[in-house]
Amino acid sequence: MNYTVQQIAEITNSQVIGDSDIMIKNIAYDSRIIYSIKNTAFIAINTHKNSGEKFIESAIDRGINVIISEHHYPQFENTTWLIVKNAVDFLQKLAKYHFENSHLKSIGITGSNGKTILKEWLYQCLWNEFPTVKSPKSFNSQIGLPLSLLQINNTHQLGIFEVGISKPHEMEKLENIFHPQIGLLTHIGTAHAANFSSEEELIDEKIKLFKDSEIIIYNGDHSVVDEKIKKLYSDKKLISYGFKKENNVFIKSNISKDENIVVEYFGEEISFPAHQRDEATLTNALALITVLKELNIQNKKIIEKINLLKAVEMRLEAIEGNKGNIIINDSFNLDLDSLKTAMQFLNEYNKPKKSLVLTDIVGVNANSKELYEEVSELVNEQQFESVFLIGNEISKFSELFKTKTYTFIDTKELIESKHLTEIENQIILLKGARKFEIEKLKDILELRKHDTVLEVNLNAILHNINYHKSLLKPETKMMAMVKANAYGLGSYEISEFLQHHHIDYLGVAYVDEGVELRKKGITTPIIVMNPEQHSYQTIIEYNLEPEIYSFRVLELFYEAVQKSGYDKKYPIHVKLETGMHRLGFKDFELDQLSETLRDKNLKVQSLFSHLSSSDMPEEKEFTLKQFEFFSKTSSYLIEKLGYSPIRHILNSSGITSYSDHQYNMVRIGIGMLGESPDAEIQKQLQSVVSFKTVISQISLVENGESVGYSRRYKADHLTKIATVPVGYADGIPRLIGNQVGNLGVHKTLAPIVGNICMDMMMINIDNIPYVKEGDTVTVFNSKPSLKEFAGYCKTITYEVLTSISPRVKRIYIKD
Ligand SMILES: *Cc1c(COP(=O)(O)O)cnc(C)c1O
Repeated sequence: MNYTVQQIAEITNSQVIGDSDIMIKNIAYDSRIIYSIKNTAFIAINTHKNSGEKFIESAIDRGINVIISEHHYPQFENTTWLIVKNAVDFLQKLAKYHFENSHLKSIGITGSNGKTILKEWLYQCLWNEFPTVKSPKSFNSQIGLPLSLLQINNTHQLGIFEVGISKPHEMEKLENIFHPQIGLLTHIGTAHAANFSSEEELIDEKIKLFKDSEIIIYNGDHSVVDEKIKKLYSDKKLISYGFKKENNVFIKSNISKDENIVVEYFGEEISFPAHQRDEATLTNALALITVLKELNIQNKKIIEKINLLKAVEMRLEAIEGNKGNIIINDSFNLDLDSLKTAMQFLNEYNKPKKSLVLTDIVGVNANSKELYEEVSELVNEQQFESVFLIGNEISKFSELFKTKTYTFIDTKELIESKHLTEIENQIILLKGARKFEIEKLKDILELRKHDTVLEVNLNAILHNINYHKSLLKPETKMMAMVKANAYGLGSYEISEFLQHHHIDYLGVAYVDEGVELRKKGITTPIIVMNPEQHSYQTIIEYNLEPEIYSFRVLELFYEAVQKSGYDKKYPIHVKLETGMHRLGFKDFELDQLSETLRDKNLKVQSLFSHLSSSDMPEEKEFTLKQFEFFSKTSSYLIEKLGYSPIRHILNSSGITSYSDHQYNMVRIGIGMLGESPDAEIQKQLQSVVSFKTVISQISLVENGESVGYSRRYKADHLTKIATVPVGYADGIPRLIGNQVGNLGVHKTLAPIVGNICMDMMMINIDNIPYVKEGDTVTVFNSKPSLKEFAGYCKTITYEVLTSISPRVKRIYIKD
């Protein structure tokens, strides 16, 4: 977009205070990830969770001079204000105007699953056919969609936008702002159905998006969807796709046997090789083909484009590098929009120093001088230590870059220069067009070089936290338990992410864990659950808050506070014993406790207890007793203290089963990692951890030959065996060898055969077609799931996670 403040005020009927001639091209809604302050206005959006107005000050500190807000704060001088009645309505009004005046061809994608992946696929296939704009990440909500539409500028010819709803009547509102010419309806599942009384109601609401569409492309496998669309939109061009042969577009070949996938498109055949053959992927491929055909892309090109897709993962990965570096790898594609997204991602880390590797931008039909001017402006604003430019084109413009800049013809030349090996303690962004293969740099910069990785999906953590929050009152605080290296996933990375998302408290087990977080820049309050005797001085030094569970600890800690010369009341957390019989004050100690506390310079920040059996419905009666006891003892203590500390008792399964007892705070642990003992809740959570490796070698073992140490497996026919580089030293218990456990290959379970070795194991892949060396093997994620894997090990998910060896590389994924 490109409007003056005055124009925006007229379009949206809002009031200007200040300079109305300022040009606005971007609207930022999150003050932490402002990547550019030039022509940017900050909008303060108030939601039920957060007041955006709290962040106006930090936006102004970052250099923003136009604020869109429901209230005017005159204390900020030299700032222009757009005062609006309601920030969300404002965005929607502006976006509607902007979209309706943009005249581009538009595709609107809705459905329960697959929206984001389809949008990204379409974008990958179409961005070098037409100048294309798309929703960033999964921006599809009442706020996300308008922000996405505002990215349209007059060079774009095609727009691909996702539209998501979670409540009745939301689609009406969104359709009012955005009416796509081509409507695309993906799979309808139960994903967001919670607020709808029936599936029918959900379908009725979703298909409202197509009111003004000319063409509707939809998954016709769902008979209710098929009927409803045919009935309501009989006057439009309708194309159905799916697995059923009644669809206009379907798969003709046998997906588990035939070498190629053959798609029938209105009687015409399109055939291509496919490695991933799960139902979701193939259904998405059908939708993709249908849209590409509709846009008149030739079959030969469609097949080429599909073949290119497989190499692409549409996400940014953050990897631990050597020499304390963090590597952000984004070699998916390179255009101005994705460069902006990567800059935002970078700003989420608070490493003070950063460097950039950037290649030519290829395949974009733009004037290169203008393009690289814009690129260099964006880059200059980020204040990189060093900038490494790769490619002839971008190198011509190297003088536009203000920081220390080096130029190279290709990636190989940069590697040979050895510049990268000198970088220490920085965040390094790798951003390149695919043909430059800058992922090779990642291999050099990476800390550990194993094919075995533990991938942690941070978006899924956020989803799971929000799911648990949705069961609580908005004002209830949340503590995230990041003890034991955040259940094995990496305490700093998880805490940094949670801090960014405003978690109220972090909980660690030992003082060193808290110290590590503080040293790396975590400022959120941290409770130490198990403060050891000799650590009290360190607790105070690093501003940590101890759990106090006995008089002995209380006295010792207080001594340390006095010695330290701390002159305010030091915050402590008092643990009450209510039935777990682990740590805590007993009820008969409460009088003495309140007396002891009265004359001390300590402040009881919280009173809490812990449930022993919140995950066991059969122990409900006992759990209710714990609540009753906690309520009684904590109230008694509050009365004696004369003030009201925060109270908390629920852990993850407590939140899902006993939300009536949430008090003022809850403590989430395994739940944020996507695990619940309750099957229904489990469906609402997303899997966070993916432990995977690759096949090192495939062997054909003859009838009678044996596999592994002690010859514990003997083939009884010619058997295909794969060796994978993960063993008991990586944290896989040896007892799941010999066909107790399975690993996943192409979403099929493959039994572990023979004894598990220290660094390797063998699996039987006899029944799995098309497996080759280098293919991915899942230790756990979806098949087998973490729970199933814990079942093989005869233990709980907690123990599986915390047993994974530190030598397994952790990778953190964000969209
Ligand atoms: C670990 C822990 C939790 C979190 O438990 P989950 O079952 O993982 O939710 C909560 N409270 C305390 C005191 C803990 O030690």
